[in-house]
Amino acid sequence: MDSKMFCFQCEQTAGCTGCKGSAGVCGKKSDTANLQDELTGALIGLARAAKESAAPADSTYRTIIDGLFTTVTNVNFDDEAIRAMTDRAHSEKKKLVPACCACGLSCGSDSDFDVKELWDANEDIRSLKSLILFGLRGMAAYASHARVLGYHDDEVDRFFCDGLSAIGEELGMEQLLPVVMKVGEINLKCMGLLDKANTGTYGTPVPVKVPLKVEKGPFIVITGHDLKDLKLLLEQTSGKGINIYTHGEMLPAHAYPELKKYPQLKGNFGTAWQNQQKEFDGIPAPILYTTNCLMPPKASYFDRVFTTGEVSFPGAVHIDEDKDFTPVIEKALELGGYADDRQFTGINGGQEVTTGFGRETVLSNAGAIVDAVKDGKISHFFLVAGCDGAKPGRNYYTEFVKQTPKDSIVLTLACGKYRFNDLDLGTVAGLPRILDMGQCNDAYGAIQVAVALAGAFGCGVNDLPLSFVLSWYEQKAVCILLTLLHLGIQNILLGPSLPAFLSPNVLNFLVENYHIGPISTPEADLKKLLGAKA
Ligand code: SF4
Repeated sequence: MDSKMFCFQCEQTAGCTGCKGSAGVCGKKSDTANLQDELTGALIGLARAAKESAAPADSTYRTIIDGLFTTVTNVNFDDEAIRAMTDRAHSEKKKLVPACCACGLSCGSDSDFDVKELWDANEDIRSLKSLILFGLRGMAAYASHARVLGYHDDEVDRFFCDGLSAIGEELGMEQLLPVVMKVGEINLKCMGLLDKANTGTYGTPVPVKVPLKVEKGPFIVITGHDLKDLKLLLEQTSGKGINIYTHGEMLPAHAYPELKKYPQLKGNFGTAWQNQQKEFDGIPAPILYTTNCLMPPKASYFDRVFTTGEVSFPGAVHIDEDKDFTPVIEKALELGGYADDRQFTGINGGQEVTTGFGRETVLSNAGAIVDAVKDGKISHFFLVAGCDGAKPGRNYYTEFVKQTPKDSIVLTLACGKYRFNDLDLGTVAGLPRILDMGQCNDAYGAIQVAVALAGAFGCGVNDLPLSFVLSWYEQKAVCILLTLLHLGIQNILLGPSLPAFLSPNVLNFLVENYHIGPISTPEADLKKLLGAKA
């Protein structure tokens, strides 16, 4: 491959084939993309060394997880930060296998991997190895969030090494397919770990209405997925006359008792990530990015952008591991916020949204839900979930939800819900028709609900009146998709376009074994899904 860069890990990849020029569609420059490849190669080298080690230190796993998270789409645009992460991987490897690092002979057993070999490989091998790599990148985000709350799991940690090592080995399709499925299996465990970490730390989410109004006075917008960063920000702003507004995937934070108890956590600002350059333009407040999705900031708000954790952008102020948010707080006080209350709306004009229908809340209504299905009051469940994105065609999800039968329930999670979460679709059997279950990792909760309903009806999940209509953008969606496949979920509709990294043969495998398919039109898909489960 002789292009300036190669990256096809997200849904908006150039020409639906791959970003190859001076910069990716996301704004990632070719130098940055190549440094990310170098980092990935170093992490594979570290994973190889860790596999040989009897007991790798926790810092080895932490480095692998942080390094993978750094390469997720819209996380890190900062060459210096990526170089530092590669150096960290090398010094971690030196601790594990000092003799190998000093050895002048290259037997290859612990060497860094040249990721160009992956991009140049046979298309089916490249496809399967990409599924493993991108799935691991997504899973690393979840493992990282669980770790900052003090939760980790040996099997999850070890699998990062197994999976990365497989990418560097000469393996055929038959050997790689089980590894792909194993990513899904381990990711289920990882999402379960994060569910335990979040609910164990912040309590069980409760349904809550979240205003889209910004009150007058200083405020901070916090975006991304890291609930611990939000908690620390809430602690540090207490009594300072500064209000906090969630953005994007931080919205479900309002439902956690240990977060919602802070009176300055007022509401939600803006819609999904791809609208940030418009919505943050001229905002009289700082924005704190705790994870993706960061888009290259416009000059009009560049001085208000703060990053922390794995997120970084050259020139933007980065809050380091001590998590002292004083610069963000000072900026909020300096900017002062709006002079009067401002009412904002969702994309459909709604003035508030609802969240907090996590697994416990839905399951506490399981008896009533089962009765309502048996009595014919609920005809169908749809899981309309996943990422939002900038490409045209995503209004499919708005139209799909609007057209779902009035006696059906729409379960949702992740930021794709901003396409419809401000719609008032009324109630069915005493429940709102749209139930927001949380962030993308709360797919774990949706799976638990599906399994519990199947148990109550004495059938399999695929026999339930339940359809999966997913939207994907970045690598967390990849590991969730692999988890659903690992569980044997059939007939998933995926959009707005299929991943560029699925080769025709790999796609055929998924179609033949799981009947996965692309979305078409809301009308045709609803007819198909309702007909199939009638
Ligand atoms: Fe292109 Fe997506 Fe890679 Fe960015 S992350 S370079 S948009 S494929």
